[in-house]
Amino acid sequence: MFAIRRRTKILATLGPASDGALKMEELLSAGVDLFRVNFSHGDHAQHAARIAAAREAEKSFGRPVAILADLQGPKLRIGDLPGGQVDVRMSSELRLVAASSSNDPDIIPIPHPELVASLQLGDKLLIDDGKMMLHIVKVDGDSRIARPVAPGKLMSRKGIAAPGRPIPIPALTEKDIADGHFAIKQGVDYIALSFVQRAADVTMAREIFGAGIPIIAKIEKPAALDELEAIVAASDAVMVARGDLGVELSPEQVPIAQRRIVRTARAHGKPVIVATHMLESMIEALVPTRAEANDVATAVYQGSDAVMLSAESAVGRHPTAAVAIMDRIIRAIEADRDANPSFPVVSVTAPSTADACAAAATKLADDLDCPLVVFTRSGSSAQRVSATRPKQPIHALTPNLATARKLSLVWGVNADLELDEPRSFDDILDAVSRHEATNSVKRFVITAGYPYASDNSTDTIKVVERK
Ligand code: PGA
Ligand code: MN
Repeated sequence: MFAIRRRTKILATLGPASDGALKMEELLSAGVDLFRVNFSHGDHAQHAARIAAAREAEKSFGRPVAILADLQGPKLRIGDLPGGQVDVRMSSELRLVAASSSNDPDIIPIPHPELVASLQLGDKLLIDDGKMMLHIVKVDGDSRIARPVAPGKLMSRKGIAAPGRPIPIPALTEKDIADGHFAIKQGVDYIALSFVQRAADVTMAREIFGAGIPIIAKIEKPAALDELEAIVAASDAVMVARGDLGVELSPEQVPIAQRRIVRTARAHGKPVIVATHMLESMIEALVPTRAEANDVATAVYQGSDAVMLSAESAVGRHPTAAVAIMDRIIRAIEADRDANPSFPVVSVTAPSTADACAAAATKLADDLDCPLVVFTRSGSSAQRVSATRPKQPIHALTPNLATARKLSLVWGVNADLELDEPRSFDDILDAVSRHEATNSVKRFVITAGYPYASDNSTDTIKVVERK
């Protein structure tokens, strides 16, 4: 139980390249800590099969693994073009109209009247993940005239983004609500919301899905950066979703946004995931570029809780190799002499008793150079200890399987299920001994809420010295 494991967690997206319980178990052995099911692709039968297979893999692997359901969110799309696609020439003048389809190659239908109405002279319009860029050159009544920045092909139903203009549809679509309820019924541990723009989006999701399921806000709209503090405060965790964030932000702005999001999340003591394109070239190649290795390293040095694989593990040629190399990079960086992410990143809230106990327990463990044991019911005590980024291993013991699973996202925490409810301090000691192969560790710090079987938050610290 007291062996030091990797601190930064690996989140792998499931997909056709990683289907089947055997393959998933292979990924867990290679270093995956938790899985993501992406509701932008596939149907409910596929998702159910994936979730069932992940649970089977978790069981044979023997460590609690969280499953994160990532909802598609409000992605705007253009309508149907004549013949399915249109060749845009440099000289093209395109008329944007509020409609679901068009028969004229010079008329681009956009089935969102509010969006068309919000477009102003000089606005930028990005279509197909930014592959096509248009500029609004004229406001003409209800329609808009646009010119392309470069020639290209435009296809029906491609995604559309108007940087700086709010999305004129609710944060959760009908599909998201149905998918979320389905995912919860399937027993997932987290729900991730795409294209969050304001804290109210997160609050709305909580009202719809209930307080029992933790919500991860994906930061992938510039509007979310304007309200970052409030969004982080309203969420259980956040994701730096660089794929879509990079569509609307220029390349040089993405690293700045990443650093800011990670720091803000850490200041709030909320888990933060750095996602997308981390080992992109490994979709095809067996080794990553050194720049990609550097990207993973940066997330580790910044103290992110988790790094994510997307296409690499979902549809790539080498999912296991991608996980294995990610694991190696993280271990190497964490072993670097001065890599331990610094604390404090200034905390934004006045510390509660539980926060103060967590910080004190970390100080004790660091001074005494010994591991930390946290008895935690909801997981929040373990998360608080993790937020202080101790140099020592953090072991969470919990009577709740859901908590043990949830903690697979959290930096540095190794969680074990401990079904016996402790009544006394000695019971916790016994539990530690049950989970330990030998009793060779002579000293450790325990922190818990007292009385132990209550829901009280952390208020007790004990240094255990064994003979
Ligand atoms: P996605 O989100 O993979 O669901 O699009 C992550 C991102 O946009 O980076
Ligand atoms: Mn995205």
